[in-house]
Amino acid sequence: MKRPLLDASPDELKAWIQDQGHPPFHARQILRWVFQHRAERFDQMSDLPKTLREQLDAEWTVFATSLAHHHVSPDGTDKLLLECTDGRRVECVLMAEDDRRTVCISTQVGCGMGCVFCASGLKGVERNLTRGELLEQVLRLRNLLPPGEKLTNLVVMGMGESLANLDNLVPALDRLCAPDGLGLGQRRITISTVGLPEKMRKLADLDRQYHLAVSLHAPTEALRNTLVPINQRVGLSEVIEAADAYFQKSGRQVTFEYVLLRGVNDRAEDAAALGSLLEARKAHVNLIPYNPVAGLPFERPSPEAVRRFADSVRARGVSVSVRKTKGREIDAACGQLRRRLEGQGTPLSISAP
Ligand code: SAH
Repeated sequence: MKRPLLDASPDELKAWIQDQGHPPFHARQILRWVFQHRAERFDQMSDLPKTLREQLDAEWTVFATSLAHHHVSPDGTDKLLLECTDGRRVECVLMAEDDRRTVCISTQVGCGMGCVFCASGLKGVERNLTRGELLEQVLRLRNLLPPGEKLTNLVVMGMGESLANLDNLVPALDRLCAPDGLGLGQRRITISTVGLPEKMRKLADLDRQYHLAVSLHAPTEALRNTLVPINQRVGLSEVIEAADAYFQKSGRQVTFEYVLLRGVNDRAEDAAALGSLLEARKAHVNLIPYNPVAGLPFERPSPEAVRRFADSVRARGVSVSVRKTKGREIDAACGQLRRRLEGQGTPLSISAP
């Protein structure tokens, strides 16, 4: 099987090129073709010696994933289902709004956290995605943009627990932020986590400027234990402490995500408890009206209920936003497209253009 180009570090690529009898500077050219000029094949790299292009093509592949499904929603959201070399599938999304071009990527096949309302974790976690698979999601989506348009934001909010794959995620993000990568600003990147305190502290120690979003979903230990089972092991207060530590170390305000489930965590007392938990903190709350998942017993609250909840938390002096749901028609919430297609046993034969 051919080696995935994006799994190799620039130094590994240089060493390989030298082994083939060529000067190592060609590595820079190759990566420029992929990151800047959107090349997806070696034969497009017209300023490389022909022999090198042939040698590359014999041993490497620019993209190792294949396109299993590409769906465009009427609101302009693109969702890709990518198939990895082992046949496993992951989802990623491109959203366009005003001047923003945002991609959302997955970090794992499946998820091991088991949040009871989420489609991604229904079958547990299968494996972490490699650095190359993380980068390919971003590059494939970027390559859908009209020439001249750039990605402006990246959110790590797809399938999987982002911080469970920190060792691949950070090097991949570093390459996207590098001037010879996509030149993306660290502050334009949001990493969403279920709240793994040890990993949050490790991320803080890495001294990056990423925006951290913590999936809280409940203001009390008891309720969080039922919705986010991993909480039984980590504890809400530990999560909040680690978020405070991230803010202190990075200077970046943390966002708390809160999926609103009708009659479960959207009651007046939940809003009051959330407000008092966060009022003393410089934090932001992002309310996410639930995106229903077939087969799961949860419902989205009415817009009025969402507004009431938001107002009640705001009344405690906490800043609150409500997430607009993009791409509902294409099952843009985590794990939903993959699940639907698997459920139907749809043959995924649409291949890359
Ligand atoms: N593991 C990370 C990333 C998960 S996806 C985390 O837990 O943050 C990003 C957010 O979407 C999480 O807050 C997750 O709980 C939420 N989410 C999952 N399923 C959802 C659904 N069906 N509707 C709305 N939000 C959902």
